[in-house]
Formats: sequence, structure tokens, C-alpha cells
Amino acid sequence: MSEKQMNAGLDMAEGKYMFKKTNMPELYKDQALVKVKSSGICGSDLHNTIERKNKTHFTKAGNLPQVVPGGHEVSGIVEELPNDYLGDLEIGSRVAIDMGGAGRACQNCYYCNFGYTKHCVNPVNDTGGGFGEYITRKPFGMYKISDEMTYSQGALVEPLAISVHGLRYCRFETGMNVAVIGSSSIGLGAIASAKFFGASKIIASAKYPHQAEAAKLMGADIVVSAEPGDLENACLDNTDGIGVDLAIESVGGTNNSSLVQSANVVRNVSNVLILGRFGEKIEMDFLQPMMKEINFINTTCYANINGISDFKLAIDILSSGNHPYKDIVTHTYEPKDIQLGFEKAYDKNSKSLKVHINS
Ligand SMILES: [Zn+2]
Ligand SMILES: [Zn+2]
Repeated sequence: MSEKQMNAGLDMAEGKYMFKKTNMPELYKDQALVKVKSSGICGSDLHNTIERKNKTHFTKAGNLPQVVPGGHEVSGIVEELPNDYLGDLEIGSRVAIDMGGAGRACQNCYYCNFGYTKHCVNPVNDTGGGFGEYITRKPFGMYKISDEMTYSQGALVEPLAISVHGLRYCRFETGMNVAVIGSSSIGLGAIASAKFFGASKIIASAKYPHQAEAAKLMGADIVVSAEPGDLENACLDNTDGIGVDLAIESVGGTNNSSLVQSANVVRNVSNVLILGRFGEKIEMDFLQPMMKEINFINTTCYANINGISDFKLAIDILSSGNHPYKDIVTHTYEPKDIQLGFEKAYDKNSKSLKVHINS
């Protein structure tokens, strides 16, 4: 670690973030230095804070107070580039950053060679995330955002790319009827992506009224409550009793109800795409999915598929006219108020969809 210091929001492993000084991130010779302009709070950040407090995270480091900041929904401005850099970024370029995959990838291993940089077998160290004042990553993982996008919208590229990737991974086809279980930021991204890729009918469930409203804005044709049975009825009623072609599970959690519901709403011989994160072991009866010949498809993060990166497509979606996903940021806070941001993100009664820390 270098001796220079920066400000950062750090999880103290007591269920709270503190804004304090920490070391500047290490800047390796093939990395760029980016001043963070916007950083989104992800559901996984909320989970991590609880797990860090309860010492139940699946990694040892995940249970200790942070010295290196997290934050993986990041946009910023390029301040330094590697000496031998020949790409299209310049000092001052406005970028969204693939923090966990391409930004750290070796670009030369088995997985990197087919675009799945998230699985790189030789990634560079994690030098810290967007809740710090600066981040360092390889320019390979930095994507210029369009002129019409704000930095805050640039920090939406990552969560949107999750859904873009999921749909591409499960070979989504134009004209499919889709059910989206849950309308938080990932569910909303799934609706927006399915719409962009040409879904026929999109039927979504939402737990809160403000999420239902947002789901409609994203392009859902029908939005029902999260009560058991509502989504099942809507999907069967709108497909002549057959079921939808694809269910996208975006809830995760600690029980199997969203997976069971997903299996109930799809037709036979179809896919359930799982985008939600399940923090605990869950039980699942696989007899009905087997009889229906349903695939449960797990995806995470993003990739470069057929030469086109999911990040680039997410930027295209956000740049296509006045796209509604741009407006899901309901609350913004200054870096020093990061704890207030986390409190707002936890409290769904606050009508928060996406909380950003902007500087
Ligand atoms: Zn995330
Ligand atoms: Zn690699």
C-alpha cells in the first residue's frame, strides 16, 4: 500500500459504515487511476454489512472490519493511464468500471480467452471499490459512458449489465413471454433488458407500490403483488394456461419461495434464470421441475459474449432515448453521509429503489 491517503466509507463490522481516511489504492503499472464520481449501493452490500456484523459471511475477510473499501457499481473520471497504454481512453474520460471482472483480469487465461473475465484464474489483487475516493483497475475493464449519461447513470451500468448478461447467457429470444419475480433494482433491470431485447409480454411481481410503479415504467405489461398465487394466476391467464417462456428470479433470500414460484409460472421445457442471491442453504423439491423439464440457470456478473460486452450493451440501453432505468436512483448522498445512504437503502418503506453516493 502506498502512503498517500484518501477518504472512504468503510464497513466497521458493527452494522455501520464510517467515513474515514484510508490508504490510496495500490496503482499497478498496467492500471488506470480513476476518481470516483458515483457509487451505487447494491443489495449485496446490504447483505454483506449484516453478515460482517453477524460473522456469517462466506469468506474470512468478509467478517472483519474493512480497511479497503467495497462498492462495485462505479463510475468516475480517468486521472492516470499506464505509460504504454494504447487504447481509446484519455485523461478525463468518463467511464463505468467492471470492478470484479475485466478490470482485474489477466486477459490471457482459459476464461479470459472466451470473455468470462469474472472467472479469470490469475486476477490482479482487489485494490478496493467505489466507496473510496479513488479506484485503480485495468483500462480493459473501463467503458466510456455516453455524453448524455450523468455519472450517476454511469453507476447504473453495472446493475443493468447483470440482467443483460443473464438474458444473453440463457439465450433469451425475441418474442418470449417473461415473468420477473421481484422489482427491486435487479428485477427492474431484468424488465428493462427483456423489453430492450424484444420480449413479447412481461409480467412482474412487486412487493411495494413504488416498485410496482417503477416496474411499469421499465416496460412490464402486467404487475401483480408478491402475494403467493398472484403471479401464478397472471402468468397462466395471459398464456392460455401454458405458462411463460422464461422466469427471472431476482429476489434471492433465505427460503425457496421465489424459486418455487418461478418453477410454477414457466411452461414445460423452459428456463428459470436466477439473478437473486441466496445467502443460506435452501431446500428445493426437484420432482416438479424435472417433470416439467425446467432448467435453473445461475449467472453472476457479466462477460464478453461473441465479442460484445454486457457492459457495452448496458450503456447502449441507458443511452437509448430517455430510458426509464436512468431514473431509478431515488436518493443520493455525499460520501461523508454513506451511513445515511445505507440506512435509506435498507428501508424499503422509504420508497428507495437505488441509492447513490455521489461526489
Ligand atoms: Zn451488485
Ligand atoms: Zn484471466
